[in-house]
Amino acid sequence: MPATWNGTLSTGRSEPLSLAGLAWPIELRPHPSARAMRLRLDEGRGLLTLTYPRRMSRRAALDWAAKQGDWVEQQLARIEPGEPFEPGATILFEGRPILLRWSEQLPRTPQLMGDVLQCGGPADAFAGRIERFLRARARERLSDETSRIAAQAGVTVRSVAIGDASSRWGSCSSSGSIRYSWRLILAPPHLLRWVVAHEVAHRVHMDHGPAFRALEARLYDGSVRAARAELRALGPRLKRIGRRL
Ligand SMILES: [Zn+2]
Repeated sequence: MPATWNGTLSTGRSEPLSLAGLAWPIELRPHPSARAMRLRLDEGRGLLTLTYPRRMSRRAALDWAAKQGDWVEQQLARIEPGEPFEPGATILFEGRPILLRWSEQLPRTPQLMGDVLQCGGPADAFAGRIERFLRARARERLSDETSRIAAQAGVTVRSVAIGDASSRWGSCSSSGSIRYSWRLILAPPHLLRWVVAHEVAHRVHMDHGPAFRALEARLYDGSVRAARAELRALGPRLKRIGRRL
């Protein structure tokens, strides 16, 4: 599997590390009290993290990591391969299979045309453009649904944020801010609506007691139990989409 992956990555604080002729995304974490270097595979985010003593040079830490190719291959062999945003790949969008298409001459801003999501520009920027497009669509859709369902519940929501938490689809703070995973845009719309109904219901009840469950059921136009089971079954695939390793 690793032999088929040779993309590079330039998002956030991570950077590509060349290992055995391939470029792996790696996130550098200089740490004041670290005594030794530690390389870890962050399966949820699809990258390697390298913790090293802060007094050590970044270059020396990367040189060490570059020699750990065998270990990395072993780790990767244990996990399910990711489904990176590559031309020709099929991803899910609102629960539908969508083909990713790239051609240099196309406009750089991704366009969704029927069952094809396409964009142009330099090939190495393709994955980043697709992810930004999906995150923007997720923000739009999740904000709209949150306003709609909050109005129905008669509550206010202070802010809606989009992130990529690996363990939860949404969270609601006691101050009224709701945070969602952008990956909900990949799921069928009714599953996104259920997560929104769930988080909005937390604006009234911060627990999962009977009053919360009754409100959640009133705010969601379907079976909560079926939606939860469906999202649990689909979740692992949604988390693999866009993962680079
Ligand atoms: Zn909850």
